[in-house]
Amino acid sequence: MLFRELGLIEPVLQAVEAEGYTTPSPIQAGAIPPALEGRDVLGIAQTGTGKTAAFALPAIHRLFAGALPKPGARRPIRALVIAPTRELAMQIRDSFIAYGRKTPLRVIAVVGGISQEIQVRALRNGVDALIATPGRLVDLMRQRLIDLSAVEMLTLDEADRMFDMGFAPDLKFITAALPAKRQNMLFSATMPGPIVELSKSLLKDPARVEIKPEKTPMQIIEQSVLIVPREAKNATLTAYFRLNEPERAIVFTRTKHGADRVAKVLARAGIPSGAIHGDKRQNARIKALFDFKNGRTRVLVATDSAACGIDVDNISHVINFDMPGDPETYIHRVGRTGRAGNSGKAVSLCQPEERRLVGAIERLGGRKIAMDRIDPALLAELPIELPPMNDGPDMDGDEFENRPRPEGGFRNFDGPPPGRGGFGGRGRRPAGKGGPVKFGSRSGPARFADGPGGVAKSSGGPNRPRGKGGPRKPSRGGPR
Ligand code: AMP
Repeated sequence: MLFRELGLIEPVLQAVEAEGYTTPSPIQAGAIPPALEGRDVLGIAQTGTGKTAAFALPAIHRLFAGALPKPGARRPIRALVIAPTRELAMQIRDSFIAYGRKTPLRVIAVVGGISQEIQVRALRNGVDALIATPGRLVDLMRQRLIDLSAVEMLTLDEADRMFDMGFAPDLKFITAALPAKRQNMLFSATMPGPIVELSKSLLKDPARVEIKPEKTPMQIIEQSVLIVPREAKNATLTAYFRLNEPERAIVFTRTKHGADRVAKVLARAGIPSGAIHGDKRQNARIKALFDFKNGRTRVLVATDSAACGIDVDNISHVINFDMPGDPETYIHRVGRTGRAGNSGKAVSLCQPEERRLVGAIERLGGRKIAMDRIDPALLAELPIELPPMNDGPDMDGDEFENRPRPEGGFRNFDGPPPGRGGFGGRGRRPAGKGGPVKFGSRSGPARFADGPGGVAKSSGGPNRPRGKGGPRKPSRGGPR
C-alpha cells in the first residue's frame, strides 16, 4: 500500500513525501482510513511504530479537507491531543508542524515548565490543533483561559502511561468538558484493565488496530542484572561504562536528585552526560535531549517520567542505575533500546534486597535474565580509576517522580556514609589484598562486560587474572 492510496489531501501527502515516507506503517495503514471517515480508533501500538502519524495525518486532513480558514477568521481548537509528558507533547507538536507544513495549520503545545503567559497569548491568536499534557491543560481550564467548545477530534496518546502517572482524574475532567459530538482516538502500548474501561467509555464502535511487536523487547534485548550492594553502585556504573563503552546509553534513576548525582558521578569519571527530569528547566531539558539526539553526548541520565516518549533511535544500552518500581516500568525502560530491528543491551544494578523484583520482571517478560553477583572486591580489581565517593549519606527524603515509593522501598545511594569504608577514595584495594575475585552467576556465565563469558573488554586491558595480587595501574582511557 502507498500513502497515495489512503485518500489524504494533497498537501498532507506532499509533507509525508518530504519526510521521506513511502509506505504507511501497519498502524498507519490500519488507523488512517477509519480515522478519515471520522470513526473512533483504538490503536494498540508502541512508540516507534509510526503511531504519531497515524493520528496526526488524518487530523490535519480533517482540519483542512473542507474549506480553508478565511484570513482573520477565528481559529478555535478543533483537534486536541493529550500526551503524558512534556517531551512527548513537544515531539507530537513537531510532527504536526512537519506533516502540516503545506497547510495553514496552527499548532501549539501546552505543557508545564514553560511560561503560561506565552501559551495563553498563542491560544488567543487562535490555534487549530492543541497538544497538551493533562496537568497544564487542567490548570488552564480551571483558570478559564482555554476554550475547548469547538473540539471535534480528541486523541489520547500513551494512555497506559497517563494512567500509570496518575492522570486518570485529569482525563476525566478534560473529556467531560468537551463537546459530546467528536471523534476519539486512543493509543496505548498495553491494555491493562483501566485502559479497557476507558476505551469502553470513551470510544463508540471503534476501529481496533493492534500492532503486535514481532518480537517483544524482552526477547530481542540482551539483558543482565548485576546484584550490587548499594555502596558499590556508583563504582559499578563507571566501571561498566569504562569496560563496555556504550555507543548511546540511557541511564535510569528513580529520583530527580538521583539523576543529577549520577550525571555528576559520570562527569567525574570523564563521561559527559545530560540529565533530564521534572525539576530541570524546560530549556535545559530540551538542550540535554538535543545534544543526546545529535550525538554530542552519548549518555542521557533520566527519570522514568522525563524519559517517557522520548524518540531517539539507536540506543545501544539501557542502564538501570536504580531498579524500577515495578516490572512494567522495567519493560518500558529496556524498550528504549533494541528498536527498529537493532540489537540492544540492558543492564540493571540491583541491590540484594531488591532481588524479588527480578523474578516479577522475568514472569512478566516470559524470560530468564542472567544474574550475577558482584563481589565488591571485583571493582577494586578492575583497571579503572573510580571517582571519589564522598557525597554524603543516602538521599532520604528524595521524592520519586510520579510514582509512590514502594513498600520497604529502595533508597537512592550516592556513596557510603562517611567512615564505612567500602568503596571510598579511589576504590582500589590496597596492595597485598588480592584475594580471588568472586563473580558468581546463577544463570550462565558472568556478564559484567558485554560479550560472551563475562570477560571484561576494555581499552585498558582485560580483568586481571585471578590470584595475581597487587594493584594495577589504573587506565585513564575514557570512553571513546
Ligand atoms: P512514532 O511511533 O510515531 O514515534 O514514530 C517513530 C518513527 O518512525 C519517527 O521517527 C517517524 O518519523 C518514523 N515514521 C513514521 N511513519 C513512518 C513511515 N510511514 N515510514 C517511515 N518512517 C516513519
